[in-house]
Amino acid sequence: MLNIALFGPPGAGKGTQSELLIKKYNLFYISTGDILRREIAEKSPLGKEAQDIISSGGLVSDEIIVQIIEKTITENPGANGFLFDGFPRTYIQAYILEGLMLKLNTSLSCLISLQVGEEISVKRLLNRGKTSGRLDDNEIVIRNRLKEYYDKTLPVLQFYMDRGIYHPIDGTKKVEQVHLEIEQIIRHILSKKLLNIVIFGYPGSGRGSQGKALAKKYGLEYVATGDLLDDEIKNNTEIGRKICALYESGTLVPDEMVVQLIEKKLANAHNVKGYIFKGFPRTLVQSYILDGLLRKHDSYISKILEIEVPTLELISRLDARSKTNTKMPYDSSTAKIVKRLQEHENKTVPVIRKYNQLHGVTKIDGMGCFEEVFAKLSDEIENGFKNLK
Ligand code: AMP
Repeated sequence: MLNIALFGPPGAGKGTQSELLIKKYNLFYISTGDILRREIAEKSPLGKEAQDIISSGGLVSDEIIVQIIEKTITENPGANGFLFDGFPRTYIQAYILEGLMLKLNTSLSCLISLQVGEEISVKRLLNRGKTSGRLDDNEIVIRNRLKEYYDKTLPVLQFYMDRGIYHPIDGTKKVEQVHLEIEQIIRHILSKKLLNIVIFGYPGSGRGSQGKALAKKYGLEYVATGDLLDDEIKNNTEIGRKICALYESGTLVPDEMVVQLIEKKLANAHNVKGYIFKGFPRTLVQSYILDGLLRKHDSYISKILEIEVPTLELISRLDARSKTNTKMPYDSSTAKIVKRLQEHENKTVPVIRKYNQLHGVTKIDGMGCFEEVFAKLSDEIENGFKNLK
């Protein structure tokens, strides 16, 4: 995810720059000010509580802010990233944001601070007041809003300086120039970010051949536990011999073995743009392991795809494969095929469900020829990562 906080005093141009960024990077926009104004217009209990504070130029309580932010974030788990405007505004809110991002298994990518002096802010806001219809765009309230900014909001910058994600920009320049400078910062951040895709689907859904082709197209490392395990078998290692026996019985290989192999793969990959994981995570335990492994590399899951194919079609595809010489030891009989489908149903479907709640899983119809499905998967990746690379 690309998560950005736009920071600066009222009138710095956060709203204007946000409009340009959300379109370009396909981000979900969260302006706490806009949300509060909507609550006031709807005369909700929350709106009533916030009304007087906003019209005097003060800051609404952190308790109110945490509620609206948490609600908005959790209602949009599939977002490509969030753009925060007017949040965090207090030190407490910076901690709140950190906690919420962790819960989504992501982090704030950068805080961009638009710097403008007090008198320029006042001038711009008075000008905006002529058309904005905002009651807080008048000089007395503006002065109070700025006082709140310098007293309570400006100290928040230290929080982000300490984390190395603070980026100041001169906000007095022209809109286009400021936008270009923000873009430069984002481009630099994205160039360091790994693109990690997890591809799910029942055995026979085509996730392997699609995953491999996608990895090639986008220059990503393909990480398939099945292939890693097969290599061990081919090289007749100790793990390989154990795996062979497990395959014969159609049972999942224990996590200890799988983790070792993935860890080795991640540690040996240098200068990679990202990974496509196939066949992993297969269990809830493995999903926690993957989070941990990625965190170790200061990275997160970027996108989760699931290829959907009806059960009868899966059986017919796996049965057809069992008659070719590319057959796997685990689809040599109907009983083994059924057992694998059941394993997926019992152990992996709960993982997809969990991810769906946390990050959102994009479902892709897996019927149709290879190229059709490949085009749909590619579209999803490119859509989700519009301009990201
Ligand atoms: P804005 O639209 O960002 O200028 O916000 C307008 C007003 O809403 C502010 O002056 C505050 O009273 C209130 N507000 C918006 N965001 C926050 C926040 N994160 N924390 C506290 N108060 C906020």
